[in-house]
Amino acid sequence: MPQRSEPLPSSSSIDDNVNADASDLTWRDTTGNNLDLDDPDLMVKCATTYIDRGWRVFPLHSITSAGKCTCHSPTCHQKGKHPLRPAGMQGATTRLRDVLDWWEDDPDANIGIATGTGLLVLAIYPERHGSLDALPINPIPLTGLVTIGSAGWHLYFTYPRNILMSSVQDALGPGIDLHADGSYVVAPPSIHPSGQRFGWNSYIAPRSLPPKILTILEPKQGWMRRDYRTVLNLMQQHGYPLTPTEIAHGLHRDYSATLKLLRRMVNDQHIYQVKRGLYTPRQPDNNQ
Ligand SMILES: [Zn+2]
Repeated sequence: MPQRSEPLPSSSSIDDNVNADASDLTWRDTTGNNLDLDDPDLMVKCATTYIDRGWRVFPLHSITSAGKCTCHSPTCHQKGKHPLRPAGMQGATTRLRDVLDWWEDDPDANIGIATGTGLLVLAIYPERHGSLDALPINPIPLTGLVTIGSAGWHLYFTYPRNILMSSVQDALGPGIDLHADGSYVVAPPSIHPSGQRFGWNSYIAPRSLPPKILTILEPKQGWMRRDYRTVLNLMQQHGYPLTPTEIAHGLHRDYSATLKLLRRMVNDQHIYQVKRGLYTPRQPDNNQ
């Protein structure tokens, strides 16, 4: 994947970025091109740069000039943030054809980027007492940073694709949410309910998640996908179903860690309990 050719900002500190308010944002896309905010094709052009990076996108509702969600529901609590199409996040794709069609139908749709499988976003919300200073890494590496109007920031990172990383609110403390598997973020230059646009603060391609953060998250939130495969292989070999004790023995892992893994696999619909204490693979064609 091409890295942008533009040199990195000379400052090695992220402070220049985080102190920038929305009026200081650089209106550029991820390839460094200046954005024309009046361009009727603004959203589709930006969505295209994301799929070029391998990020899966899908259209979200937007905000009208009157500050309302385009769903026009008086009770909408997800203004400009919820999926525009019935498939929602499940429809997120890197297929150019779909992206062109979607934004041809709804040129002003906000852009959702599905996170997970190698892309994660730390969302920091001051109104919930989150702050960049509270992140357990110092200095914060220069990485993709989005200012969400006056509402906070999104820090983009990459991580090994073989790790299953759950999305968790307050994952790294109050007001610091983790968006990874099964989640999405609203991407620049989408419109925030405040009327401001999400914007890249001098876009820098996302860097690897610092090992320190990975270490903090992994025991709590992350399981190697290979653990899933190992459990499923074990069930195949022995003829399912299996008890947690049998699985723990096969994994050379202690009982409580095995139970946690099994619960996660149940949640992720890889296995289910045929009866109490007996687990078996969930077949794709089996709705039970
Ligand atoms: Zn709405």
